[in-house]
Amino acid sequence: MSQQTVVKFYDSVINFFDKAAQHTGLPDGLLSQIKVCNAVYRMLYPVKIGNEVKVIEAYRVQHSHHRTPTKGGIRYSNHVNQEEVMALATLMTFKCAIVDVPFGGAKGGVKINPWDYDAESLERITRRYTTELINRNFIGPSVDVPAPDYGTGEREMAWIYDTYRTFKGMDIDAAGVVTGKPVNQHGIHGRTEATGRGVFYGLREACDIPEDMKKLGLSTGLKGKRMIVQGLGNVGSFTSKISQDEGGAIVVGVGEMEGAIYNPNGFDIHEVLKFRKETGSILGFPGATSIPKEQRESILEYDCDILVPAALEDVITFKNAANIKAKIIGEAANGPITSKGEEILLDAGKLIIPDVFLNAGGVTVSYFEWLKNLSHMRFGRMEKRFDQQRLTNLVTMVERQVGREVSDEEKNMIARGADEIDLVRSGLEETMINAYHQIRGVMVEKPLVTDMRTAAFVSAINKISSDYLAMGIFP
Ligand code: GLU
Repeated sequence: MSQQTVVKFYDSVINFFDKAAQHTGLPDGLLSQIKVCNAVYRMLYPVKIGNEVKVIEAYRVQHSHHRTPTKGGIRYSNHVNQEEVMALATLMTFKCAIVDVPFGGAKGGVKINPWDYDAESLERITRRYTTELINRNFIGPSVDVPAPDYGTGEREMAWIYDTYRTFKGMDIDAAGVVTGKPVNQHGIHGRTEATGRGVFYGLREACDIPEDMKKLGLSTGLKGKRMIVQGLGNVGSFTSKISQDEGGAIVVGVGEMEGAIYNPNGFDIHEVLKFRKETGSILGFPGATSIPKEQRESILEYDCDILVPAALEDVITFKNAANIKAKIIGEAANGPITSKGEEILLDAGKLIIPDVFLNAGGVTVSYFEWLKNLSHMRFGRMEKRFDQQRLTNLVTMVERQVGREVSDEEKNMIARGADEIDLVRSGLEETMINAYHQIRGVMVEKPLVTDMRTAAFVSAINKISSDYLAMGIFP
Protein backbone atom coordinates (compact mmCIF):
# COMPACT_ATOMS: atom_id res chain seq x y z
CA MET A 1 0.00 0.00 0.00
CA SER A 2 1.53 3.31 -1.04
CA GLN A 3 1.75 6.39 1.16
CA GLN A 4 -0.68 8.05 -1.26
CA THR A 5 -3.31 5.34 -0.72
CA VAL A 6 -3.04 5.63 3.03
CA VAL A 7 -3.48 9.42 3.05
CA LYS A 8 -6.57 8.82 0.94
CA PHE A 9 -8.05 6.75 3.77
CA TYR A 10 -8.09 9.74 6.14
CA ASP A 11 -9.41 11.94 3.31
CA SER A 12 -12.21 9.43 2.70
CA VAL A 13 -13.22 9.49 6.35
CA ILE A 14 -13.26 13.30 6.28
CA ASN A 15 -15.34 13.24 3.07
CA PHE A 16 -17.84 10.89 4.71
CA PHE A 17 -18.04 13.19 7.72
CA ASP A 18 -18.47 16.36 5.63
CA LYS A 19 -21.16 14.76 3.48
CA ALA A 20 -23.18 13.89 6.60
CA ALA A 21 -22.45 17.15 8.45
CA GLN A 22 -24.45 19.12 5.85
CA HIS A 23 -27.58 17.32 6.97
CA THR A 24 -27.22 18.18 10.66
CA GLY A 25 -27.72 21.96 10.58
CA LEU A 26 -25.08 22.31 13.32
CA PRO A 27 -22.74 25.34 13.47
CA ASP A 28 -19.41 25.03 11.64
CA GLY A 29 -17.25 25.52 14.76
CA LEU A 30 -18.93 22.68 16.59
CA LEU A 31 -18.70 20.43 13.54
CA SER A 32 -14.97 21.19 13.24
CA GLN A 33 -14.44 20.23 16.87
CA ILE A 34 -16.33 16.97 16.35
CA LYS A 35 -14.26 16.23 13.25
CA VAL A 36 -10.67 16.85 14.36
CA CYS A 37 -8.35 14.47 16.20
CA ASN A 38 -7.91 15.90 19.71
CA ALA A 39 -4.55 14.36 20.55
CA VAL A 40 -1.88 12.60 18.51
CA TYR A 41 1.09 10.97 20.20
CA ARG A 42 3.90 9.71 18.02
CA MET A 43 6.59 7.60 19.64
CA LEU A 44 10.00 6.37 18.58
CA TYR A 45 11.40 3.99 21.13
CA PRO A 46 14.23 1.46 21.26
CA VAL A 47 13.74 -2.27 21.71
CA LYS A 48 16.45 -4.90 21.89
CA ILE A 49 15.81 -7.59 19.27
CA GLY A 50 18.49 -10.30 19.53
CA ASN A 51 21.81 -8.44 19.64
CA GLU A 52 20.49 -5.36 17.88
CA VAL A 53 18.61 -2.27 18.93
CA LYS A 54 15.59 -1.53 16.79
CA VAL A 55 13.85 1.84 16.81
CA ILE A 56 10.11 1.27 16.82
CA GLU A 57 7.71 3.83 15.36
CA ALA A 58 4.33 3.86 17.08
CA TYR A 59 1.24 6.01 17.60
CA ARG A 60 -1.76 6.52 19.79
CA VAL A 61 -4.42 8.92 18.62
CA GLN A 62 -7.32 10.05 20.82
CA HIS A 63 -9.85 11.45 18.43
CA SER A 64 -12.53 12.76 20.76
CA HIS A 65 -12.78 13.48 24.48
CA HIS A 66 -16.48 14.32 24.49
CA ARG A 67 -16.74 11.12 26.51
CA THR A 68 -13.99 9.39 28.42
CA PRO A 69 -12.27 7.02 28.47
CA THR A 70 -11.36 6.96 24.83
CA LYS A 71 -11.41 3.54 23.19
CA GLY A 72 -9.98 1.72 20.24
CA GLY A 73 -7.69 -1.08 19.16
CA ILE A 74 -3.96 -1.27 18.59
CA ARG A 75 -2.80 -2.32 15.15
CA TYR A 76 0.52 -4.01 14.39
CA SER A 77 1.27 -3.57 10.70
CA ASN A 78 4.03 -2.40 8.41
CA HIS A 79 1.61 0.08 6.86
CA VAL A 80 0.92 1.99 10.06
CA ASN A 81 1.41 5.74 9.77
CA GLN A 82 -0.04 8.81 11.41
CA GLU A 83 -2.84 9.41 8.90
CA GLU A 84 -3.98 5.81 9.05
CA VAL A 85 -4.19 5.83 12.85
CA MET A 86 -5.99 9.19 12.74
CA ALA A 87 -8.53 7.82 10.27
CA LEU A 88 -9.12 4.73 12.41
CA ALA A 89 -9.40 6.78 15.63
CA THR A 90 -11.93 9.05 13.94
CA LEU A 91 -14.04 6.07 12.89
CA MET A 92 -13.98 4.80 16.50
CA THR A 93 -15.68 7.96 17.80
CA PHE A 94 -18.60 7.59 15.40
CA LYS A 95 -18.72 3.83 15.89
CA CYS A 96 -19.07 4.21 19.66
CA ALA A 97 -21.75 6.88 19.29
CA ILE A 98 -23.77 4.74 16.86
CA VAL A 99 -23.98 1.77 19.22
CA ASP A 100 -24.37 3.93 22.35
CA VAL A 101 -21.06 2.89 23.84
CA PRO A 102 -20.17 5.85 26.07
CA PHE A 103 -16.55 6.33 24.96
CA GLY A 104 -14.62 8.71 22.74
CA GLY A 105 -12.69 7.20 19.83
CA ALA A 106 -9.00 6.31 19.80
CA LYS A 107 -6.62 4.02 17.95
CA GLY A 108 -3.04 2.85 18.29
CA GLY A 109 -0.56 1.60 15.77
CA VAL A 110 2.89 0.04 15.90
CA LYS A 111 4.75 0.02 12.60
CA ILE A 112 6.01 -3.56 12.52
CA ASN A 113 5.13 -6.71 10.67
CA PRO A 114 4.19 -8.88 13.67
CA TRP A 115 4.81 -12.07 11.67
CA ASP A 116 8.50 -11.10 11.40
CA TYR A 117 9.04 -11.31 15.17
CA ASP A 118 9.05 -14.09 17.73
CA ALA A 119 6.79 -13.93 20.79
CA GLU A 120 9.59 -12.70 23.04
CA SER A 121 10.35 -9.70 20.82
CA LEU A 122 6.65 -8.92 20.42
CA GLU A 123 6.28 -8.96 24.19
CA ARG A 124 9.12 -6.47 24.56
CA ILE A 125 7.70 -4.21 21.86
CA THR A 126 4.26 -4.34 23.49
CA ARG A 127 5.44 -3.75 27.04
CA ARG A 128 7.62 -0.81 26.02
CA TYR A 129 4.75 0.69 23.99
CA THR A 130 2.53 0.42 27.08
CA THR A 131 5.20 2.04 29.24
CA GLU A 132 5.46 4.97 26.81
CA LEU A 133 1.69 5.42 27.05
CA ILE A 134 1.71 5.20 30.85
CA ASN A 135 4.45 7.83 31.07
CA ARG A 136 2.39 10.29 29.01
CA ASN A 137 -0.85 9.46 30.81
CA PHE A 138 -2.20 8.15 27.52
CA ILE A 139 -3.64 4.93 28.94
CA GLY A 140 -5.80 3.96 31.92
CA PRO A 141 -9.25 2.57 32.76
CA SER A 142 -10.67 6.12 32.90
CA VAL A 143 -8.31 7.65 30.30
CA ASP A 144 -7.86 5.51 27.21
CA VAL A 145 -8.57 1.78 26.89
CA PRO A 146 -6.93 -0.16 24.01
CA ALA A 147 -8.17 -3.42 22.49
CA PRO A 148 -7.10 -5.81 19.73
CA ASP A 149 -7.04 -4.77 16.08
CA TYR A 150 -5.27 -6.05 12.96
CA GLY A 151 -2.14 -7.99 14.00
CA THR A 152 -2.90 -8.09 17.73
CA GLY A 153 -5.02 -10.35 19.93
CA GLU A 154 -5.61 -11.46 23.49
CA ARG A 155 -1.95 -12.33 24.05
CA GLU A 156 -0.87 -8.71 23.49
CA MET A 157 -3.78 -7.45 25.61
CA ALA A 158 -2.63 -9.62 28.52
CA TRP A 159 0.87 -8.10 28.24
CA ILE A 160 -0.59 -4.58 28.23
CA TYR A 161 -2.67 -5.35 31.32
CA ASP A 162 0.28 -6.89 33.13
CA THR A 163 2.55 -3.94 32.31
CA TYR A 164 -0.05 -1.45 33.50
CA ARG A 165 -0.64 -3.46 36.70
CA THR A 166 3.10 -3.51 37.38
CA PHE A 167 3.25 0.29 37.24
CA LYS A 168 -0.17 1.04 38.77
CA GLY A 169 -0.57 -1.76 41.29
CA MET A 170 -2.64 0.46 43.58
CA ASP A 171 -5.34 0.94 40.95
CA ILE A 172 -8.08 -1.48 41.95
CA ASP A 173 -9.63 -1.07 38.49
CA ALA A 174 -6.39 -1.88 36.66
CA ALA A 175 -8.01 -4.75 34.68
CA GLY A 176 -10.19 -2.13 32.93
CA VAL A 177 -7.09 -0.66 31.27
CA VAL A 178 -7.48 -2.83 28.17
CA THR A 179 -10.17 -5.08 26.67
CA GLY A 180 -9.98 -8.21 24.58
CA LYS A 181 -7.96 -9.92 27.34
CA PRO A 182 -7.93 -13.71 27.73
CA VAL A 183 -10.92 -14.89 29.76
CA ASN A 184 -8.63 -16.09 32.57
CA GLN A 185 -7.05 -12.62 32.69
CA HIS A 186 -10.26 -10.67 33.32
CA GLY A 187 -11.51 -10.97 29.74
CA ILE A 188 -15.13 -11.74 28.88
CA HIS A 189 -16.69 -14.71 27.13
CA GLY A 190 -17.72 -13.80 23.60
CA ARG A 191 -15.22 -10.98 22.97
CA THR A 192 -13.21 -12.94 20.39
CA GLU A 193 -16.22 -13.70 18.21
CA ALA A 194 -17.90 -10.33 18.91
CA THR A 195 -17.02 -8.38 15.77
CA GLY A 196 -17.94 -11.24 13.45
CA ARG A 197 -21.10 -12.01 15.39
CA GLY A 198 -22.06 -8.32 15.24
CA VAL A 199 -21.51 -8.34 11.47
CA PHE A 200 -23.86 -11.33 11.27
CA TYR A 201 -26.58 -9.59 13.33
CA GLY A 202 -26.24 -6.47 11.17
CA LEU A 203 -26.45 -8.38 7.88
CA ARG A 204 -29.37 -10.45 9.12
CA GLU A 205 -31.27 -7.32 10.16
CA ALA A 206 -30.67 -5.67 6.79
CA CYS A 207 -31.85 -8.78 4.93
CA ASP A 208 -34.96 -9.08 7.09
CA ILE A 209 -36.51 -5.83 5.84
CA PRO A 210 -38.72 -6.83 2.88
CA GLU A 211 -38.98 -3.40 1.22
CA ASP A 212 -35.20 -2.86 1.28
CA MET A 213 -34.56 -6.30 -0.21
CA LYS A 214 -37.25 -5.75 -2.84
CA LYS A 215 -35.48 -2.55 -3.98
CA LEU A 216 -32.34 -4.62 -4.50
CA GLY A 217 -34.22 -7.37 -6.30
CA LEU A 218 -33.42 -9.87 -3.52
CA SER A 219 -35.63 -12.11 -1.43
CA THR A 220 -36.11 -11.38 2.26
CA GLY A 221 -33.84 -13.10 4.77
CA LEU A 222 -30.17 -13.99 5.03
CA LYS A 223 -30.94 -17.67 4.43
CA GLY A 224 -29.72 -18.81 1.02
CA LYS A 225 -27.88 -15.54 0.24
CA ARG A 226 -24.54 -16.11 -1.48
CA MET A 227 -21.67 -14.50 0.32
CA ILE A 228 -18.02 -13.69 -0.47
CA VAL A 229 -15.72 -12.88 2.44
CA GLN A 230 -12.36 -11.20 1.86
CA GLY A 231 -10.04 -11.92 4.79
CA LEU A 232 -10.18 -14.96 7.07
CA GLY A 233 -8.71 -13.34 10.15
CA ASN A 234 -10.69 -13.09 13.35
CA VAL A 235 -13.51 -10.97 11.89
CA GLY A 236 -13.84 -12.72 8.53
CA SER A 237 -13.75 -16.23 9.95
CA PHE A 238 -16.38 -15.62 12.64
CA THR A 239 -18.58 -13.67 10.21
CA SER A 240 -18.59 -16.51 7.71
CA LYS A 241 -18.96 -19.29 10.28
CA ILE A 242 -21.87 -17.65 12.12
CA SER A 243 -23.60 -16.43 8.93
CA GLN A 244 -23.46 -20.00 7.58
CA ASP A 245 -24.34 -21.85 10.80
CA GLU A 246 -26.94 -19.52 12.31
CA GLY A 247 -28.13 -17.52 9.32
CA GLY A 248 -28.14 -20.13 6.56
CA ALA A 249 -26.00 -17.97 4.25
CA ILE A 250 -24.01 -19.80 1.57
CA VAL A 251 -20.33 -18.90 1.45
CA VAL A 252 -19.33 -19.02 -2.23
CA GLY A 253 -15.96 -17.28 -2.09
CA VAL A 254 -13.14 -16.35 0.26
CA GLY A 255 -10.00 -14.32 -0.27
CA GLU A 256 -6.78 -14.40 1.70
CA MET A 257 -3.11 -13.36 1.37
CA GLU A 258 -2.21 -16.49 -0.60
CA GLY A 259 -5.06 -16.20 -3.12
CA ALA A 260 -8.79 -16.80 -3.30
CA ILE A 261 -11.28 -19.62 -3.90
CA TYR A 262 -14.72 -19.59 -5.46
CA ASN A 263 -17.47 -22.15 -5.90
CA PRO A 264 -20.84 -20.86 -7.15
CA ASN A 265 -22.58 -23.67 -5.26
CA GLY A 266 -20.90 -22.77 -1.99
CA PHE A 267 -18.66 -24.65 0.41
CA ASP A 268 -18.58 -25.43 4.10
CA ILE A 269 -16.51 -22.67 5.68
CA HIS A 270 -15.43 -24.95 8.55
CA GLU A 271 -13.91 -27.32 5.98
CA VAL A 272 -12.12 -24.41 4.29
CA LEU A 273 -10.65 -23.23 7.59
CA LYS A 274 -9.60 -26.79 8.43
CA PHE A 275 -8.02 -27.20 5.00
CA ARG A 276 -6.08 -23.94 5.42
CA LYS A 277 -4.85 -25.01 8.85
CA GLU A 278 -3.65 -28.34 7.50
CA THR A 279 -2.11 -27.16 4.21
CA GLY A 280 -1.22 -23.56 5.07
CA SER A 281 -3.35 -22.24 2.21
CA ILE A 282 -6.92 -22.06 0.92
CA LEU A 283 -5.67 -22.72 -2.62
CA GLY A 284 -6.50 -26.16 -3.94
CA PHE A 285 -9.59 -26.53 -1.76
CA PRO A 286 -11.54 -29.41 -3.35
CA GLY A 287 -14.35 -28.43 -5.68
CA ALA A 288 -13.46 -24.72 -5.79
CA THR A 289 -11.73 -22.62 -8.45
CA SER A 290 -8.41 -21.36 -7.11
CA ILE A 291 -7.40 -17.78 -7.89
CA PRO A 292 -3.64 -17.17 -7.57
CA LYS A 293 -2.08 -14.64 -5.21
CA GLU A 294 -1.43 -12.00 -7.92
CA GLN A 295 -5.14 -11.89 -8.83
CA ARG A 296 -6.54 -12.43 -5.35
CA GLU A 297 -8.29 -9.04 -5.29
CA SER A 298 -10.49 -10.16 -8.18
CA ILE A 299 -12.54 -12.25 -5.73
CA LEU A 300 -14.28 -8.98 -4.81
CA GLU A 301 -15.73 -8.91 -8.32
CA TYR A 302 -17.17 -12.44 -8.42
CA ASP A 303 -20.88 -13.09 -8.49
CA CYS A 304 -22.63 -13.12 -5.09
CA ASP A 305 -25.40 -11.36 -3.15
CA ILE A 306 -23.34 -10.11 -0.21
CA LEU A 307 -19.71 -9.06 -0.34
CA VAL A 308 -17.93 -8.77 3.01
CA PRO A 309 -14.51 -7.12 2.92
CA ALA A 310 -13.08 -8.15 6.28
CA ALA A 311 -9.38 -7.29 5.99
CA LEU A 312 -7.95 -3.82 5.52
CA GLU A 313 -8.89 -0.38 4.21
CA ASP A 314 -9.02 0.90 0.61
CA VAL A 315 -9.82 -2.36 -1.19
CA ILE A 316 -12.80 -1.01 -3.16
CA THR A 317 -11.81 2.16 -4.95
CA PHE A 318 -12.75 4.07 -8.11
CA LYS A 319 -10.68 1.46 -9.98
CA ASN A 320 -12.75 -1.65 -9.22
CA ALA A 321 -16.06 -0.36 -7.80
CA ALA A 322 -17.86 -0.58 -11.15
CA ASN A 323 -17.01 -4.30 -11.37
CA ILE A 324 -18.57 -5.30 -8.06
CA LYS A 325 -21.50 -7.65 -8.64
CA ALA A 326 -22.77 -8.02 -5.08
CA LYS A 327 -25.90 -6.04 -4.27
CA ILE A 328 -25.04 -5.72 -0.59
CA ILE A 329 -21.59 -4.76 0.65
CA GLY A 330 -21.08 -5.30 4.37
CA GLU A 331 -18.02 -3.48 5.67
CA ALA A 332 -16.59 -5.81 8.29
CA ALA A 333 -13.16 -4.15 7.96
CA ASN A 334 -12.54 -0.51 8.77
CA GLY A 335 -12.58 1.73 5.70
CA PRO A 336 -12.61 -0.92 2.91
CA ILE A 337 -14.41 1.42 0.50
CA THR A 338 -12.95 4.81 -0.42
CA SER A 339 -15.28 7.79 -0.81
CA LYS A 340 -14.81 7.70 -4.61
CA GLY A 341 -15.50 3.97 -4.69
CA GLU A 342 -18.62 4.54 -2.64
CA GLU A 343 -20.01 7.11 -5.11
CA ILE A 344 -19.78 4.54 -7.91
CA LEU A 345 -21.41 1.80 -5.84
CA LEU A 346 -24.25 4.04 -4.68
CA ASP A 347 -24.92 5.19 -8.25
CA ALA A 348 -25.21 1.51 -9.17
CA GLY A 349 -27.91 1.10 -6.51
CA LYS A 350 -25.89 -1.04 -4.07
CA LEU A 351 -26.65 -1.23 -0.36
CA ILE A 352 -23.51 -0.41 1.64
CA ILE A 353 -23.73 -1.33 5.30
CA PRO A 354 -21.00 0.86 6.76
CA ASP A 355 -18.11 -0.13 9.04
CA VAL A 356 -19.03 2.38 11.76
CA PHE A 357 -22.15 0.33 12.35
CA LEU A 358 -21.44 -3.15 11.02
CA ASN A 359 -18.17 -3.90 12.81
CA ALA A 360 -19.15 -2.17 16.06
CA GLY A 361 -19.76 -5.52 17.78
CA GLY A 362 -16.13 -5.61 18.89
CA VAL A 363 -16.22 -2.36 20.77
CA THR A 364 -19.69 -3.15 22.11
CA VAL A 365 -18.45 -6.30 23.82
CA SER A 366 -15.29 -4.43 24.85
CA TYR A 367 -17.64 -2.09 26.69
CA PHE A 368 -19.24 -5.10 28.42
CA GLU A 369 -15.76 -6.35 29.35
CA TRP A 370 -14.81 -2.94 30.79
CA LEU A 371 -18.04 -2.88 32.82
CA LYS A 372 -17.27 -6.39 34.08
CA ASN A 373 -13.78 -5.25 35.11
CA LEU A 374 -15.12 -2.23 36.99
CA SER A 375 -17.74 -4.35 38.74
CA HIS A 376 -15.15 -7.05 39.56
CA MET A 377 -17.68 -9.79 38.86
CA ARG A 378 -18.72 -11.83 35.87
CA PHE A 379 -22.15 -11.28 34.36
CA GLY A 380 -24.81 -13.74 35.48
CA ARG A 381 -23.06 -14.82 38.67
CA MET A 382 -25.73 -13.46 41.01
CA GLU A 383 -28.92 -14.31 39.13
CA LYS A 384 -28.26 -17.51 37.17
CA ARG A 385 -29.33 -20.05 39.82
CA PHE A 386 -32.15 -17.86 41.06
CA ASP A 387 -33.62 -17.54 37.55
CA GLN A 388 -33.16 -21.26 37.01
CA GLN A 389 -35.06 -22.13 40.17
CA ARG A 390 -37.85 -19.63 39.46
CA LEU A 391 -38.36 -20.96 35.93
CA THR A 392 -38.22 -24.59 37.10
CA ASN A 393 -40.94 -23.81 39.66
CA LEU A 394 -43.00 -22.21 36.91
CA VAL A 395 -42.66 -25.22 34.63
CA THR A 396 -43.57 -27.57 37.50
CA MET A 397 -46.64 -25.48 38.26
CA VAL A 398 -47.79 -25.51 34.62
CA GLU A 399 -47.19 -29.27 34.46
CA ARG A 400 -49.41 -29.71 37.49
CA GLN A 401 -52.13 -27.48 36.03
CA VAL A 402 -52.25 -29.22 32.66
CA GLY A 403 -51.59 -32.69 34.06
CA ARG A 404 -48.77 -33.40 31.62
CA GLU A 405 -45.00 -33.49 32.10
CA VAL A 406 -42.52 -31.87 29.73
CA SER A 407 -39.34 -33.79 28.90
CA ASP A 408 -36.12 -33.08 30.80
CA GLU A 409 -34.66 -31.65 27.62
CA GLU A 410 -37.55 -29.20 27.22
CA LYS A 411 -37.38 -28.33 30.90
CA ASN A 412 -33.68 -27.54 30.64
CA MET A 413 -34.29 -25.36 27.62
CA ILE A 414 -37.04 -23.34 29.28
CA ALA A 415 -35.56 -23.09 32.76
CA ARG A 416 -31.88 -22.57 31.97
CA GLY A 417 -30.34 -19.57 33.73
CA ALA A 418 -28.18 -17.30 31.58
CA ASP A 419 -24.40 -17.69 31.52
CA GLU A 420 -22.08 -14.80 30.74
CA ILE A 421 -21.88 -15.79 27.07
CA ASP A 422 -25.69 -15.78 26.76
CA LEU A 423 -25.90 -12.30 28.24
CA VAL A 424 -23.06 -10.98 26.08
CA ARG A 425 -24.66 -12.32 22.90
CA SER A 426 -28.06 -11.01 23.91
CA GLY A 427 -26.64 -7.55 24.70
CA LEU A 428 -24.78 -7.52 21.40
CA GLU A 429 -27.82 -8.60 19.39
CA GLU A 430 -29.98 -5.95 21.03
CA THR A 431 -27.33 -3.29 20.38
CA MET A 432 -26.93 -4.11 16.69
CA ILE A 433 -30.67 -4.31 16.02
CA ASN A 434 -31.32 -1.01 17.82
CA ALA A 435 -28.51 0.76 16.03
CA TYR A 436 -29.68 -0.54 12.64
CA HIS A 437 -33.13 0.91 13.15
CA GLN A 438 -31.77 4.21 14.49
CA ILE A 439 -29.77 4.59 11.28
CA ARG A 440 -32.67 3.54 9.08
CA GLY A 441 -34.84 5.98 11.03
CA VAL A 442 -32.57 8.85 9.92
CA MET A 443 -33.11 7.82 6.27
CA VAL A 444 -36.87 7.72 6.74
CA GLU A 445 -36.90 11.09 8.52
CA LYS A 446 -34.51 12.85 6.12
CA PRO A 447 -35.31 11.91 2.53
CA LEU A 448 -32.16 13.70 1.32
CA VAL A 449 -30.07 11.16 3.22
CA THR A 450 -30.16 8.20 0.86
CA ASP A 451 -27.26 6.00 2.00
CA MET A 452 -26.61 4.19 5.25
CA ARG A 453 -23.15 5.63 5.91
CA THR A 454 -24.36 9.21 5.75
CA ALA A 455 -27.31 8.28 7.95
CA ALA A 456 -25.01 6.58 10.46
CA PHE A 457 -22.72 9.63 10.60
CA VAL A 458 -25.72 11.99 10.96
CA SER A 459 -26.99 9.93 13.89
CA ALA A 460 -23.54 9.87 15.51
CA ILE A 461 -22.78 13.57 14.95
CA ASN A 462 -26.12 14.52 16.50
CA LYS A 463 -25.42 12.41 19.58
CA ILE A 464 -21.91 13.86 20.02
CA SER A 465 -23.10 17.43 19.45
CA SER A 466 -25.78 17.05 22.10
CA ASP A 467 -23.01 16.10 24.56
CA TYR A 468 -21.07 19.27 23.72
CA LEU A 469 -24.20 21.42 23.82
CA ALA A 470 -25.23 20.03 27.20
CA MET A 471 -21.85 20.12 28.93
CA GLY A 472 -20.50 23.29 27.28
CA ILE A 473 -16.93 23.79 26.17
CA PHE A 474 -14.35 24.54 28.84
CA PRO A 475 -12.97 28.09 28.34
N1 GLU B 1 -10.30 -2.73 16.98
C1 GLU B 1 -11.71 -2.89 17.07
C2 GLU B 1 -12.42 -1.87 16.19
O1 GLU B 1 -11.86 -1.35 15.25
C3 GLU B 1 -12.21 -2.94 18.51
C4 GLU B 1 -11.99 -1.72 19.32
C5 GLU B 1 -12.32 -1.91 20.79
O2 GLU B 1 -12.84 -2.93 21.17
O3 GLU B 1 -12.03 -0.97 21.54
O4 GLU B 1 -13.57 -1.60 16.36
